[in-house]
Amino acid sequence: MMDEIKSEKLRIESDELFQYLFPITRSITGNGFRESIGIIKEKIPDLQIHEIPSGTKVYDWTIPKEWNIRDAYIGDKTGRRIVAFKKCNVHVMSYSIPVNKKMKFSELKNHLHTLPDLPDAIPYRTSYYKENWGFCLSHNQFNELDENTEYEVYIDSDLQDGSLTYADVVIGGEQDGKEYILSTYLCHPSLANDNLSGPILTTLLYNELKNKKLLNKYRFIFIPETIGAIAYLRQNEAAMKNSAGGFVITTVAGPGTLGYKETFLGNHYIDRLVRETFRENGIEFKQYPFVPDGSDERQYSSPGFRIPVGTICKDKYYEYKYYHTSLDNLDFVKSEYLLETLEIYLSVIEKIEIDAVYLSKNPNCEVQLGKRGLYPETGGAINQSAAGNTQKRYTEIDVITWFLFLADGENSLLDMSEKTGISMSDFKNIAMTLEQKGLVEYRQF
Ligand code: ZN
Repeated sequence: MMDEIKSEKLRIESDELFQYLFPITRSITGNGFRESIGIIKEKIPDLQIHEIPSGTKVYDWTIPKEWNIRDAYIGDKTGRRIVAFKKCNVHVMSYSIPVNKKMKFSELKNHLHTLPDLPDAIPYRTSYYKENWGFCLSHNQFNELDENTEYEVYIDSDLQDGSLTYADVVIGGEQDGKEYILSTYLCHPSLANDNLSGPILTTLLYNELKNKKLLNKYRFIFIPETIGAIAYLRQNEAAMKNSAGGFVITTVAGPGTLGYKETFLGNHYIDRLVRETFRENGIEFKQYPFVPDGSDERQYSSPGFRIPVGTICKDKYYEYKYYHTSLDNLDFVKSEYLLETLEIYLSVIEKIEIDAVYLSKNPNCEVQLGKRGLYPETGGAINQSAAGNTQKRYTEIDVITWFLFLADGENSLLDMSEKTGISMSDFKNIAMTLEQKGLVEYRQF
């Protein structure tokens, strides 16, 4: 667990990122995405930023035109702006084409989106691949519109050839280990849990890991959702086909329960590690089996790649009431919640790093622990203290005997933990002691 000073520092950093990034109008392309990546690059100077021109073919898809918007509103007869982009950027459907005309309510109405069941919330809508325009407003606002009024509709946007922006950075690989991906998307406008919380956690995660000696490689990917993942896979095909697995990091800072969306395999190493992490920390969590919807796992796990990716979240997308509405704002998320999820991610990666296979150098019968100072000198006391102690489920001697029993070169530390309920880090500590005493041999997992 993190100490208080460190978590206070991380909380402030997360708060600042939420404050800086929240107001920016982002979409799958455009200056809002670039500006946001620029802010993240201040925290991750090694981040590499890439641009792919509009019109570029990426598998079955094409990089769309770049969208930028300066202003938009619906004005009434008196010139009052009753729905204004400058008040809330969620009001304009993303990728809306330019409009400047007066129209009757009957015509305007076809371009309005509301949520009658959540009348205070402005829904978030997009139209990336079909040229269209639209406004999103609260149902309360909608009810105030007058059927007999002519409205002024103005959208000052442009949709023209430009490029799609994404960024990445790879760290670790001290021992030529495997490569894992940590992918997040950054394409929603002023929406906090889905989706700003994902890139903010990913940024903090990078900074927590970057100075550590990491045996495995970690590829951090910041993309616009769907088209960005497809473009990324196209441009990094060979490396991605070698990926051992990873995570799509999204919706990590809500007030609700911690959850885990499994990889498409359901019982992959990644799934087992996540379950073990929750178990060791005594945290209840909700499990969501893989389904081919959700986020970029759809691309990463597609037949050509089959990368097992999971998602650890706190208030998973689809599941919370304010999902894809203006009420998913800075009052809804909290950096404290984000740090809870960050701790789980850090703990999973720590487990990937310590995992290994050990081979006993004395496999024929038990090792005589007593002569090496590893066993209590008085016989008979073992298990007596543990038996009456419900707090501690295992003693150090349990860890040693289980470890040596399982150190046959087949069981990884994760296997050992699953079989015994003893934590991977307790096994790791004993493994290092026994390795120093020449009793076991380390083999990279
Ligand atoms: Zn979303």
